[in-house]
Amino acid sequence: MFCSICSEEHELDLCEELDETIIKKEKVNYICHYYRCNKYKDENTFMTEDMWNESLINSLDIYRALENKNK
Ligand SMILES: [Zn+2]
Repeated sequence: MFCSICSEEHELDLCEELDETIIKKEKVNYICHYYRCNKYKDENTFMTEDMWNESLINSLDIYRALENKNK
C-alpha cells in the first residue's frame, strides 16, 4: 500500500471508527474507515478517496433512515 503520511510503500493498519456529523441539524453517527501509518505517532491517519465516498454514503444512509423514523 502507498502511505500518504510518509510517502512510502508499506503495510498500513486498517481502522474502523464511529464518527459523528451533523446533517441538516440532525446528529448522525456513522462508521468510517481509515488507514494508519505505524511509523508516526501523531496525525498518522488518512483516508483514500474511496473511504471518503464510503463514509459520505454511510452518513447519508443513516440520515435518511433517521428522517424516515421521524415521519
Ligand atoms: Zn507510512
